[in-house]
Amino acid sequence: MTELRDARGRLLRDLRVSVTDRCNMRCSYCMPRAHFPAGFKFLPRGEILRHEEVARVAGLLVGLGVKKIRLTGGEPLLRADLHKLIEALAPLPGVDLALTTNGVLLPKHAATLRAAGLARVTVSLDSLDADVFRAMTDSSFTPADVLAGVDAALAAGLGPIKINCVVRRGHNDGSVVALARRFHGTGCVVRFIEYMDVGDTNEWRRDDVVTGREIVEAISRELPLLPVASAYDGEVAKRWRYADGGGEIGVITSVTQPFCGACSRARLSARGILYTCLFASDGVDLRAPLRDGATDDELTALVRETWRARDDRYSELRALGLSRGKRIEMSYIGG
Ligand code: SAM
Ligand code: SF4
Ligand code: SF4
Repeated sequence: MTELRDARGRLLRDLRVSVTDRCNMRCSYCMPRAHFPAGFKFLPRGEILRHEEVARVAGLLVGLGVKKIRLTGGEPLLRADLHKLIEALAPLPGVDLALTTNGVLLPKHAATLRAAGLARVTVSLDSLDADVFRAMTDSSFTPADVLAGVDAALAAGLGPIKINCVVRRGHNDGSVVALARRFHGTGCVVRFIEYMDVGDTNEWRRDDVVTGREIVEAISRELPLLPVASAYDGEVAKRWRYADGGGEIGVITSVTQPFCGACSRARLSARGILYTCLFASDGVDLRAPLRDGATDDELTALVRETWRARDDRYSELRALGLSRGKRIEMSYIGG
């Protein structure tokens, strides 16, 4: 197989698939209720890629170099029969198959997903404080619901688990150290994520970003941290380990230290649009050719051309003060 590189020499290695645009939470930084109110018209079923369509696209992308597939959303556990999609994806050769979820439905689904072939899960948890959590996720769920999901995933064999925490100033910056402490020594790696300007609805302001440096300093004051060299080229999270041997954390500094230079991700939206950047305003429609009877060779050629032309580096441009334009919402494209 010849290596597929984009216009900046970057390989295609990762695929994120958003399996639904729906969610049972309304996180203020992702799906603010003012923009996603009760009665919001989510995509009708027929507009969303069927499992066999996703599996076909994924199989073709594996043929072009993809080694990691992550299912996301919206909330992926709301997708009916998700285990059937996992059954279709798990046998793809050489692929690491994972899922990102808000966790509250894991007690119901973890064992089925594991049995279907899912390897690992990442669970999002922004605070252990029930009030902060409720305000941030704008839902009636509690941190205890998410922790029950983490336990269910561990019991089902879906570990080691990563915990994602988006840090937004004035919202949950006071929760960072407690989260680090809760998972210190457990084998779960908390990844603190700089709040990003994804989509056009979350009213992002640069001042709301708690920088990776601030996060590491805050944790290190109580639980001293040492830097860890990245495990592979293109690793998104900067790794830190506890000096006392209590494990690691990750910090995703997409705002203050963009990593576009090594970005190897393609994203497939729930309705079958292929995006080559999280901050894209448009992508390439794969659903129409899929449903119009395109052959595998035709679809592969379309993806290959799209990747070869890829020039995206939004976060680098943002850091230079050059980013602008309408962007696709996170819940459509998947985080
Ligand atoms: N619903 C699932 C969940 O919350 O894990 C999967 C989809 S969610 C869009 C994927 C990840 O994106 C989550 O960890 C979420 O915290 C993160 N995310 C959403 N909006 C974000 C933003 N504006 N900045 C940084 N991360 C964000
Ligand atoms: Fe839903 Fe996940 Fe977005 Fe929160 S971050 S609104 S849980 S999709
Ligand atoms: Fe990749 Fe786009 Fe994020 Fe840069 S901004 S790292 S190109 S997804």
